[in-house]
Amino acid sequence: MEKMLKTAIESVRAAAGICTQVQAQLVSEDTLVKKDRSPVTVADFASQALICTALKENFPQISIVGEEDAADLRQAENSELLEKINGFLADWTKDAVLGGIDYGNGEPAKEFWTLDPIDGTKGFLRGQQYAMALALIRNGKPVLGVLGCPNLGEKGTLMYAIRGEGAFSADLYSDDFKQVQVTRGGLDAPVRFLESVESGHSDHGLQGVIKGVFGERAQSVRYDSQVKYAVLSRGEADVYLRLPNPASPDYREKIWDHAAGAIIVQEAGGRVTDISGKDLDFSAGKKLFNNRGVVVTNGPLHDEIITLIQKNK
Ligand code: AMP
Ligand code: MG
Repeated sequence: MEKMLKTAIESVRAAAGICTQVQAQLVSEDTLVKKDRSPVTVADFASQALICTALKENFPQISIVGEEDAADLRQAENSELLEKINGFLADWTKDAVLGGIDYGNGEPAKEFWTLDPIDGTKGFLRGQQYAMALALIRNGKPVLGVLGCPNLGEKGTLMYAIRGEGAFSADLYSDDFKQVQVTRGGLDAPVRFLESVESGHSDHGLQGVIKGVFGERAQSVRYDSQVKYAVLSRGEADVYLRLPNPASPDYREKIWDHAAGAIIVQEAGGRVTDISGKDLDFSAGKKLFNNRGVVVTNGPLHDEIITLIQKNK
């Protein structure tokens, strides 16, 4: 597990370095306003190539289920895009870039990695929060999770958790890891809700009803990506609701959008279930087919929140 953690952290940091450069260019070139998606695509692919190649070199037997694949990138019409990605991986051949991305084409198995090379691409494009999210799944449960959050805190944040060993946080490029714990506020304490910036990713109407139950105690902050899990695990928020949006009733949550964040919150003492209180089941494929929505809390509020969701949905 030590070698796995080291490889995961080092490759996530390397990917974060590229993503930070791309995002800085984005902001300076003003492409943000143009809503040009190609910069995020460059960073997304470069991140997946880097992380998957490091994992494959060190753990050739373990399959990787990543969000991206290189099929489109292999088409002649995308040669310029491939050129740009290669620009960030200067001493790589094109085949190494394409092959690296496609290492992430693996299937879920008894043991596998799952990777979101840039979670929160919309936040990335807005110059806001995003994350690299990597987890190792065994028998349907995350046992190791790493989140790289380049824009969380002044120096960026890196968090990891190992099943049974706790959750830890440091500045992105520091090894000064400190164990983190959720906070368990008392009956009068504020209830700090985390919400997606993108209103399509949850049922904000039902979220409003639930916040309403807590009256003046309810506060709300919006972040993109699994940065929400990172913030809650550090004790800076209490509830993160991802309620199925009636506008997309067939949507199922993707495993790479939750695996790393979930183990980090659990190891920090919090709880993670779906909206009916069931544990998340990462053994059902690339999506959480056996679950609906996701509810993340500091612990004490969990049962009450699940009851409120069931009553009001
Ligand atoms: P967030 O930044 O927390 O809003 O989540 C970003 C993730 O939301 C992306 O990685 C998508 O995979 C996912 N997503 C896209 N559409 C939906 C949807 N209708 N409901 C929930 N999540 C979605
Ligand atoms: Mg994502």
